[in-house]
Amino acid sequence: MRAKIAAGELPSTDCDTTHLVIGGLERCVACEQPTTPANPAIECGYGHDRYIFHPDCYVMWEEALRGDASIDRISQTHSEGLPS
Ligand SMILES: [Zn+2]
Repeated sequence: MRAKIAAGELPSTDCDTTHLVIGGLERCVACEQPTTPANPAIECGYGHDRYIFHPDCYVMWEEALRGDASIDRISQTHSEGLPS
């Protein structure tokens, strides 16, 4: 998951909009498996871009994002001091 974020295949920031959508239309961008009509999928919107996730994959992505974001924040704000 983190490798995909690092490679730019998955967004590295929280989405602008999040919708529950009917599955079965598109593949999950995280695990590349098809979504199924039996389960809702999560559509993550960034402007004109849309990313479809399985709900489970969305949760994993968000967790990976938070982990990566904190690493980024540490490196970016290193000279400004870290939050305690
Ligand atoms: Zn998935």
